[in-house]
Amino acid sequence: MANYHGPVCRFCRREGAKLYLKGERCYTPKCAIERRAVPPGIHGQARRRKTSDYGLQLRAKQKARRTYGLLEKQFRNYFDASVREGGVTGLNLLRHLELRLDNVVYRLGMGSSRKQARQLVTHRHFEVNGRLVNVPSYRLKPGDEVRLRESNGAVEMALEASNVRTVPSWLAFNDEQKSAKVLALPDRGEMEQGVEEHLIVEFYSR
Ligand code: SF4
Repeated sequence: MANYHGPVCRFCRREGAKLYLKGERCYTPKCAIERRAVPPGIHGQARRRKTSDYGLQLRAKQKARRTYGLLEKQFRNYFDASVREGGVTGLNLLRHLELRLDNVVYRLGMGSSRKQARQLVTHRHFEVNGRLVNVPSYRLKPGDEVRLRESNGAVEMALEASNVRTVPSWLAFNDEQKSAKVLALPDRGEMEQGVEEHLIVEFYSR
């Protein structure tokens, strides 16, 4: 699966918000958006015209997609699955994103960013319910247990640095065993607050 390997701070500058894509650096004065809060590119500082409805919907979709580090096709697949499930599409979509294994590792603080969490998963550092899982998109469900397979320096460092974040209440983290149980489906209040899912639904429903 292809992945984006270019600079990421430009995404935050484009969206005008911190997307926390670089781990610890995002919490320091070195954060690019704090030093230069204008959109990237040579026209970044030019005065912008009023954004159309389409523009707002597009930006909301791009912001969510970049926050979770997904390519367009993966993101669209989640949207289609969310529609098929019935109920509230936006909530279904966010749950798909939150319950990915790489996101849960990040939420637990065992990855300093979602990108690092994804790398840790693909490098075979985690098991789910006692079985090795190296697929970042693996969907967890209530009752599943995620465990770090063996002590890992990067995870220790990430955990130390992650004390600025809180583990959501739908995850029960055991710091000693470096394991966690998924207690329930995440509520909207404990998912990414910057995501405007109604605009994403409007974008794909055009
Ligand atoms: Fe975004 Fe983090 Fe870069 Fe700041 S340091 S612009 S929050 S990725």
